[in-house]
Amino acid sequence: MLISTERSTAAISAAEAHSAHNYHPLPVVITSAEGAWMTDVEGRRYLDLLAGYSALNFGHGNRRLIDAAKAQLERVTLTSRAFHHDRFAEFCTELAALCGKDMVLPMNTGAEAIETAVKTARKWGYRIKGVPDGKAKIVVADNNFHGRTTTIISFSTDPEARADYGPYTPGFEIVPYGDLAALSAAVDEHTVAVLLEPIQGEAGVLVPPAGYLAGVRRLTAERNVLFIADEIQSGLGRTGRTFACEHEDVVPDMYVLGKALGGGVVPVSAVVASSEVLGVFRPGEHGSTFGGNPLACAVALEVIAILRTGEYQERAAELGEHLHRELGLLVGEGAVDAVRGRGLWAGVDIAPSRGTGRDVSERLLERGVLVKDTHGSTIRIAPPLVISKEDLDWGLDQLRAVLAG
Ligand SMILES: *Cc1c(COP(=O)(O)O)cnc(C)c1O
Repeated sequence: MLISTERSTAAISAAEAHSAHNYHPLPVVITSAEGAWMTDVEGRRYLDLLAGYSALNFGHGNRRLIDAAKAQLERVTLTSRAFHHDRFAEFCTELAALCGKDMVLPMNTGAEAIETAVKTARKWGYRIKGVPDGKAKIVVADNNFHGRTTTIISFSTDPEARADYGPYTPGFEIVPYGDLAALSAAVDEHTVAVLLEPIQGEAGVLVPPAGYLAGVRRLTAERNVLFIADEIQSGLGRTGRTFACEHEDVVPDMYVLGKALGGGVVPVSAVVASSEVLGVFRPGEHGSTFGGNPLACAVALEVIAILRTGEYQERAAELGEHLHRELGLLVGEGAVDAVRGRGLWAGVDIAPSRGTGRDVSERLLERGVLVKDTHGSTIRIAPPLVISKEDLDWGLDQLRAVLAG
């Protein structure tokens, strides 16, 4: 059968001509999606094993989220924070409760929430901890990914993310991820925070050694340093728990949330902490026109309600066990060098004999499966948590077929 690609080809060349080339998308043009499946402009269907980098944990077109958005669209969508609106208090109360905290600062994108966490930690350091003005230090890990702003890329170790964007923001020290001794040595009397991903997503789904997060928690508590957990990608069900920190019974001082908080419908992010920490802000000292808008709050409230049932966490844990068992077999067969991850989240290092991560992604695309490569040889598997076991198995069959040659 001859498959037409005319519509896709035209759309792709127009995108290449008129959009900056800061991404290298796979050659597919999506026009609709439902659950774990997407459909392109030629009518072909694809199993989504990326889920918008975990923004779509609850699936494409999730009925509860779409209905919540539609209802809110008909009432009021934006007030700015100049006025109160009737979804705001509810959103902040519910999100704080989900995190076991009592205060929320809403923003829009993940990067903005990280910026907010950095500002919070510095202000807390000067006002509460008593760090001399201009001396605050934040310790971060190598191979981190926290977003794309000039301050955030200042403490990236990825040359692609960082090069040519200087001068860089000072005040950060980078230590090896997973190395508690290095972290301990870096924390000094001017350190206000340690900022980490509980599992490093963009780095290739790197899980730190057992006991690391608990160790970070102990160390930061002892030294009066805030522990900021970037749960933007790891949080909200992905790993089989609401937060990845829970796997080590760790409660950080600050949760940074984004991606799935907006259910793939609207950008919603937030910093969640105690009022001792987030209480440092006074009117005018930080803000966002769209942060905490009624539409964002309505969708996020539904996300929180979905998470409260625990169904998605349970699903991610169960299907995740299955996923990791199956991927483990591929390591045994020599097609894959290593598999890491937790829950419905895996970084798969493709054996060089089977091609690059990009090659594998393109061959999977031809077989109706969408994944995205990272760092050359790794592909990441992170389907919407609504995926059925049958569909997941079918996706894994395609991966096996692609890796077989
Ligand atoms: C995606 C991501 C961010 C940045 O979020 P944006 O919404 O793209 O700004 C920050 N931290 C982690 C761990 C992420 O995965």
